[in-house]
Amino acid sequence: MADLPPVEMFLSSTGVRIYRIPCEAFPNFIVYCHLLLGDLPPTLVDTGSGYGASNKQLLAGLEAVHTEFNEPFRLADLARIVISHGHIDHFGGLSHVLEHVQAEVAVHPLDRRVLTHYEERLIVATKNVRFYLQQAGVSAEMQEVLIGTYQFSKKHVRSVTVERELRDGDELDGLRYIHTPGHCSGQLCIGVGDILLSTDHILPGISPHQSPESITAFTGLAHYLESLDKVARIGGFDLALGGHEGPTRDVYRRIEAIRAGHERKLERVSTIIRDAPAPPTVQEITHTMYPRVQGFDVLLALEEAGAHVEYLYQHGRLEVTNLDEVEREDNPPLRYAVA
Ligand SMILES: [Zn+2]
Ligand SMILES: [Zn+2]
Repeated sequence: MADLPPVEMFLSSTGVRIYRIPCEAFPNFIVYCHLLLGDLPPTLVDTGSGYGASNKQLLAGLEAVHTEFNEPFRLADLARIVISHGHIDHFGGLSHVLEHVQAEVAVHPLDRRVLTHYEERLIVATKNVRFYLQQAGVSAEMQEVLIGTYQFSKKHVRSVTVERELRDGDELDGLRYIHTPGHCSGQLCIGVGDILLSTDHILPGISPHQSPESITAFTGLAHYLESLDKVARIGGFDLALGGHEGPTRDVYRRIEAIRAGHERKLERVSTIIRDAPAPPTVQEITHTMYPRVQGFDVLLALEEAGAHVEYLYQHGRLEVTNLDEVEREDNPPLRYAVA
């Protein structure tokens, strides 16, 4: 088990005390949940993965708010749980928290069904991933391995009831909800005065993971870049607290850096396709971009590269070269050339 960082408190310009609680979502992978206290119903944003020690760490973090920071808050006071987006490291612990407390659950409508019908979602999403891997040119044998890693650690999650939907522009109890699709369909950022809870939309070091919209609607690089613009236009945030890593001190410079990183990746994908001896598949492009990845990272790399290929194709910068095969066969790999 990794050493967890301590619980920290950040005070917003609106007087909300934001407690940042770390949990080890998966081995050596820390996620932050945020408890908001002040002139609002006690609100928890995200609940960890529910995997391993994550549940215990979340409850211990909530307890520490009382014992170490002298807040009168107790777990039973929790009134609302907001799920920032439908990724397991952020909501997998939800059913466990609800065993201890009666709180309203709120999420963006596009991720609602992930929470309320998790099993259905897992089956349908797995099918979409399989279709994507076939189209990307991944071998049948490798597809099995990757589907196995995709389903790993997702089986413990239980569906819950959702009481409230949060939409773009909603203001509720002094918090401002901003829908920022891209990294995830229902991704929400939350404005708390001058602090942005950026969850997985903006992170200080990692460029938030992208996957093609062909797997899940409202993900994909085009939505993501628009959502970066949206936050940049809003302005006024002095600090962002993400779902992973440390705080982001210069939110707007970080947005520019993430955007520039994607521009470079788009160029790199174009160059790889142009320099390939024959029109490559997404799998071949991924292998050139990320030759050393292993395990679960292979799937992430295929999604990340594929999101950039998809963006270039959507914007008329690539063409599919094997149309005969595509017309004739069920789901053959697509081969790309620069248009
Ligand atoms: Zn995420
Ligand atoms: Zn995450």
